[in-house]
Amino acid sequence: MLLILGTSEILLNFYETDEKQCPRCNQTGVTFRVVQTYFHVFGLPICPLQKYTGISCDQCNYTNDNVANEMSILLERESRVPLYFYSGVIIFSVIVIAVALILIL
Ligand SMILES: [Zn+2]
Repeated sequence: MLLILGTSEILLNFYETDEKQCPRCNQTGVTFRVVQTYFHVFGLPICPLQKYTGISCDQCNYTNDNVANEMSILLERESRVPLYFYSGVIIFSVIVIAVALILIL
């Protein structure tokens, strides 16, 4: 069922590294993933909301969706939000400008 409006998530970027240890099993080899949440109407992205970094370990199946360290800050900075996440704002702006031009002319 398609929700009329709400929030959703999309994977922006992921990074597998052998340089970091799993916080649970201390094995090296974890995967960081950067996730963007966004507000949508009829599935059309209106505006991006929150970006967060999660970590997962393949050895012990550990996952954490709330990683806050220097690695997560760097990854979130490198993972840019695609322009289409602003589709609703862009469409609304074009409509407002078009109406304003029609009223002026
Ligand atoms: Zn682990």
